Amino acid sequence: MKEDYYDILGINKSASSSEIKKAYRKKAIAYHPDKNPGDAEAEKKFKEAAEAYEVLGDEQKRAQYDRFGHAAFEGNQGFGGGSMNMDDIFSQFGDIFGSAFGGGFGGFGGGQRSSKGTNLRVRVTLTLEEMVLGVEKKIKVKRKKQAPGVSYVTCKTCGGSGQIMRVTNTILGRMQSATTCTTCNGAGQTLRHRPSGADAYGMISQEETVSIKIPAGVEDGMQLKVSGKGNEAPGQGISGDMIVQISVKEHASLKREGNNLHLDLYISISEAVLGTYKEINTVGGSVRIKLDAGIQSGKILRLKGKGVPSLNSYGSGDLLVHVSVWTPEQLTKEQKQFFEDQSNHDNFKPSPKSTHKSFFDKVKDMFS
Ligand SMILES: [Zn+2]
Repeated sequence: MKEDYYDILGINKSASSSEIKKAYRKKAIAYHPDKNPGDAEAEKKFKEAAEAYEVLGDEQKRAQYDRFGHAAFEGNQGFGGGSMNMDDIFSQFGDIFGSAFGGGFGGFGGGQRSSKGTNLRVRVTLTLEEMVLGVEKKIKVKRKKQAPGVSYVTCKTCGGSGQIMRVTNTILGRMQSATTCTTCNGAGQTLRHRPSGADAYGMISQEETVSIKIPAGVEDGMQLKVSGKGNEAPGQGISGDMIVQISVKEHASLKREGNNLHLDLYISISEAVLGTYKEINTVGGSVRIKLDAGIQSGKILRLKGKGVPSLNSYGSGDLLVHVSVWTPEQLTKEQKQFFEDQSNHDNFKPSPKSTHKSFFDKVKDMFS
């Protein structure tokens, strides 16, 4: 039994087209093959989500699906068997992740023609804020370009195809095979005029600043592909791609876990005893929180909606503030005297009530 397309994307039947798009985007990121190398289950889900979006993302197809269900597309090529190929899926991504990512993410380039320029690999380090909110980055790269004044002629060896066909007689009959032309290295063209400073292919290396739009919601270790921003090819070949490897700088105080953020907050004994207000920096601004007098170490304050904005626009995660009371390691004489005077008072001795949850209860709460 084939799963319902709405269920696959985790949306209801009245979802708007932007909700559908966002839901698909979220699934595509979660099950992206770059993030789940060798995970067949993730790849299956990735393809299912793409197929669901292919239908629900298209008003006409969606209307058909709403009326007839999966039967609407029976017998259609590309449907019914979850048989969308990866190239089709990545070609949808221009729509989903913006035109800068027309080719989708890297990883499935495959079948690179030899007349295509080579790929450039760059690493971009983002802060937690940039990863969460999205950012435009300017990156300096050295690209290979055709030298000014260079000219090419059609390769005489292969006649411009870049390939040499070879016919061999084998036990199974005549076999035809293609090999890359060694004269032009597959470019189909050879150099006519080589300007000074250019290499054997008429290319020069040039420093260039490239602007890259990083969509919100990327994660550490992901690769983005920017089509056509790699090295140029000699002659009439097409430029390679730029592969952007995302790495995320650890935040000084915030830790991300899914859409939630965690923060360790240390307060002094007097702040714990008397209560206080604290200003907390989180992604996209700061929040002021109140700590009640008598707050215990280990208390977790959950600030609803102050975490990472959800990719599918259904709100945000939470900010969990883990409170620890800092016990002073050194005391002045007067402070020591003060605590010695207090040590006989009953309210300076621990007497946890049932409302004070133990550490283990809290861990249980967090996962329930
Ligand atoms: Zn050739």
